[in-house]
Amino acid sequence: MWFIMINEEFECENCHKKVSSHPESSARNHCPFCLFSKHLDDKFPWDRASDCLWLMEPFDLDFKKNKWYMIKHKCLKCGKEILNKVASDDNLLDFTKERNKKLTAKNGF
Ligand SMILES: [Zn+2]
Ligand SMILES: [Zn+2]
Repeated sequence: MWFIMINEEFECENCHKKVSSHPESSARNHCPFCLFSKHLDDKFPWDRASDCLWLMEPFDLDFKKNKWYMIKHKCLKCGKEILNKVASDDNLLDFTKERNKKLTAKNGF
């Protein structure tokens, strides 16, 4: 079975910004502005077998050895968590700022 990599423009369903194709011409699977993704995959990345199709919220970052930063996405409907590779033009700064704020609040500083 072939997995079709989609690298094309789309409109983000969360922030409604127009998202251009991926700078390294790999497939874009989340919005570089708000980092939201969409629940398309079921068991494997890119299998596009899920019929959920709900928005997935970025909630954490993960650093994998020998890889790049990964964004942890959680589906707002079914709660499924998926790791996605960060793209070079992702707006990570705002996301990490928000994340640090949340962590700081949690730790009570
Ligand atoms: Zn967006
Ligand atoms: Zn889902």
